[in-house]
Amino acid sequence: MTETKELTLDYVTALLRKRNMITEAQEREIHIKGEAQRARLKKSQESFYSSRRRLTLSEMVSPAEVVASLNIPLATDTKKPITEDMITEAIAEDAGIPYVKIDPLKLNLDVVTSNVPRPFAQKYLVVPLEEKDKVVTIAVADPFNLEAIESLKGTRKMKIKAVLSSKSDILKIVREFYGFRYSVGAAEKEFSGGTDLGNLEQYVKLRGAVEIEATDQHIVNAVEYLLHYAYDQGASDIHIEPKREKSLVRLRIDGMLHYIHTVPKAVHASILSRIKMLSRMDIAEKRRPQDGRIKTAFKDREVELRVSTLPTAFGEKVVIRIFDPEILFQDVSTLGFTHREFDVFSSFLRKSYGIILVTGPTGSGKTTTLYSAMKSLSTPEVNIVTIEDPIEMIVEEFNQVGVQPLIGVDFAGSLRTILRQDPDIIMVGEIRDKDTAQNAVQAALTGHLVFSTLHTNDAPTSITRLFDLGVPPFLINSTIIGILAQRLVRKICKHCAKQRPLTHEEMEHLRLKPKEYAVSYGEGCTECRGTGYKGRTAVFEVLGFSDAIRRLVTNATDVSLVEKAARAEGMSTLRESAIRKMLQGVTTYEEVVSVT
Ligand SMILES: [Zn+2]
Repeated sequence: MTETKELTLDYVTALLRKRNMITEAQEREIHIKGEAQRARLKKSQESFYSSRRRLTLSEMVSPAEVVASLNIPLATDTKKPITEDMITEAIAEDAGIPYVKIDPLKLNLDVVTSNVPRPFAQKYLVVPLEEKDKVVTIAVADPFNLEAIESLKGTRKMKIKAVLSSKSDILKIVREFYGFRYSVGAAEKEFSGGTDLGNLEQYVKLRGAVEIEATDQHIVNAVEYLLHYAYDQGASDIHIEPKREKSLVRLRIDGMLHYIHTVPKAVHASILSRIKMLSRMDIAEKRRPQDGRIKTAFKDREVELRVSTLPTAFGEKVVIRIFDPEILFQDVSTLGFTHREFDVFSSFLRKSYGIILVTGPTGSGKTTTLYSAMKSLSTPEVNIVTIEDPIEMIVEEFNQVGVQPLIGVDFAGSLRTILRQDPDIIMVGEIRDKDTAQNAVQAALTGHLVFSTLHTNDAPTSITRLFDLGVPPFLINSTIIGILAQRLVRKICKHCAKQRPLTHEEMEHLRLKPKEYAVSYGEGCTECRGTGYKGRTAVFEVLGFSDAIRRLVTNATDVSLVEKAARAEGMSTLRESAIRKMLQGVTTYEEVVSVT
């Protein structure tokens, strides 16, 4: 005799209690708050859908969503709140069906969208994940109601393996994947007038420049889906690259590129036009690179997208960089400094005039450090002016000037002009020539706090770089407050972190004293897409210009002596900072070696 189970709130709370995930008191709490919470969630979901497009959602708010939204700590580990994934996993075990955490980046668009039609997927919340040896794996949200699976088996004559995934994950795929696929497909059809395209390339050649209008609703939808999807995945860049036959869509996440979609060539130009239109570029101009930006909101958060196009052999390529204010503006204390480094850097920021330099290659997080530092100094009483190439993100509190070399607006010239605008704090995007260096020094000498960046590998060598830029030792000593070198290291995914001892070779390579060290690494799980990493943090080398350092900055400066003196005062090199983060279990040995 088998009992019939039903996916209700009572069932879920009883299950969590049975598995000791919640206490008796928490079970009561869920019973008391449950229904009101469900009503509240239902309302917020309704407003979400009606404000976007209408989805025929047969599914109501699920019990797992209700419990997860209450933020109840796990009884066995009170630091972790109970999530929808944990509940789904528990339900799967109880129902005797495999649990799968959906990794959108691993899904094949064709498998997802060709096996189950969109209205069906929406109505029953089912998503095909994989097709292997003629068996289709389909994720369902309710293991006790397999009606949809039965009907698929009957009508589509396919072998089906059902797995359980969280309702949120399934819904996300239904929205993003089917939405994108549907929009691109519909646009393609419209373009071809409903006939089969056959040889696409030939067809395009015949029709020449004919395109679907960039305002076509399907194209509008496709671009919107893509932007939301990228933001949801925590991507920093979206690449849309035309190839001979089709276009590739790739996302950069934590510094690595991931392949996402293929777009038919016929639709590429229209998607490009739509993006160019949104970023106020000249749509007709296809032979010159262009820059533009889009200000938009994701989940109530204002986000800025910087767009740049580049003509390539197969058409225009576009890269969209996503600037998330949560990443660009952080509390200075959370950037990754040690206590000592934070104290030293804070002392730089308390100075009223002088130069603070941040150094490192492109993509080392310099902008985040500068923006966060300036934001911490921003009050109604100070005038902050930035000169950037190009402006990274438009910030209301700053007065920002974008360098435009083509019309003669360069760093040095802009700097001269803004000095007449009574600034207190000036940020110069980069000191790359003698003119700019001279003007920056002049600004500091006349009582301004100047932030800038240099392209050097570490803090001490920045001194020789300044010599090369024509700044004599006495001016370096009277203006430089401090120099910060930095790099970004990937953080180990918390969900799959494991420990291992450091080998002897590794110790030798890092010149560590031989003893037992435990280091961590990520085994790879669905949370981190199998990479073992999630998110990034900065490692620093903070060089304060003390009297002892200044005495070493002469016409005969020996950089190694500067480094030695700085280390005697407590400075850690980039590598030492990275090793510290490795020993704390934040990053891996491999990251330390590759980044520093
Ligand atoms: Zn992981």
